[in-house]
Amino acid sequence: MVKILVTDKVHEDGVKLLREFADVEVATGLKPDELLDRVKDCDVLVVRSATKVTGEVIAAGKQLKVIARAGVGLDNIDVKSAEARKIKVLNAPEAPTVAVAELVLGHMLSFARHFPQADASTKQGKWEKKELLGTELRGKTFGIIGTGQIGRTVGYRAIAFQMNLLLNDVIRNQEFAERTEGKYVDIETLLKESDYVTIHVPLLSATKHMIGKRELELMRPTAVLINTSRGAIIDEKALVEALQNKKIAGACLDVYESEPLRDSPLLNLPNVVLTPHIGASTVEAQRDASVIVAKKIKETLA
Ligand code: NAD
Repeated sequence: MVKILVTDKVHEDGVKLLREFADVEVATGLKPDELLDRVKDCDVLVVRSATKVTGEVIAAGKQLKVIARAGVGLDNIDVKSAEARKIKVLNAPEAPTVAVAELVLGHMLSFARHFPQADASTKQGKWEKKELLGTELRGKTFGIIGTGQIGRTVGYRAIAFQMNLLLNDVIRNQEFAERTEGKYVDIETLLKESDYVTIHVPLLSATKHMIGKRELELMRPTAVLINTSRGAIIDEKALVEALQNKKIAGACLDVYESEPLRDSPLLNLPNVVLTPHIGASTVEAQRDASVIVAKKIKETLA
């Protein structure tokens, strides 16, 4: 029987699926030498974020056929070493799509209606109705940079708020544009004409700092920038300057150039709303990630 070792906390629905065809051992919080010992006779290693699957771990796993991460990125897995040993590396990039999209909508609504300020001042016993005058999303122009899985899921939800979409991607999705009445434009036009801009591209050498000083200067002084993709896609120093100099109205950020965010000027700016990389942190996304990788493991071993 296939032997699977699960070394991080993954949703039980995925583990249940694995138990249908394999002998599954769940052992979380292993010390590095314990992991080296346990992985020896395993066919499959399943992790999330805590376990570091180093070259040493991979070398110790003499029988390993699959390493699976019940999540999006593969930052904690030495993929090169795995590939050199012909071990298949699996993940579930599709699992958090809706979770991230809903976070973007949540950030926009929260910014437009001043949720953080309203909550803080009401709890302080104040009743600041005038100061908390908000704006509506209805009729606003929404620029979506990257119309892949998440960008499109955001777009379909935004049109329910009667927003008008401007789109940018290196590959255009005509069906999405038609269904949302969105318009693909160059990035300069998108930045100049949008009230809200959201970023959903992967971090590549071509996208690192794709939003810098020049791009921020193209944006409207009333515009809000939202980033739930990867921190380094925005030049954070340039963003801080743009926010301090009111070149843009605000930013909603879930990801940062360096995480966890410590000692950053972002922490003291009144016109930013920060979340601690919780884009994928929903019960549903965690469950989907575990079920998706369990199914992929089964298919791979079939
Ligand atoms: P995806 O691959 O489906 O879509 C990415 C899109 O970006 C593609 O359509 C691609 O053509 C486009 N693109 C690539 N380079 C571009 C460029 N230079 N200019 C314009 N468009 C470009 O990916 P996805 O599932 O939509 O995820 C998007 C990003 O969200 C991921 O890269 C990931 O880093 C991030 N993410 C964050 C969280 C979180 O917790 N905050 C969770 C999941 C994913």
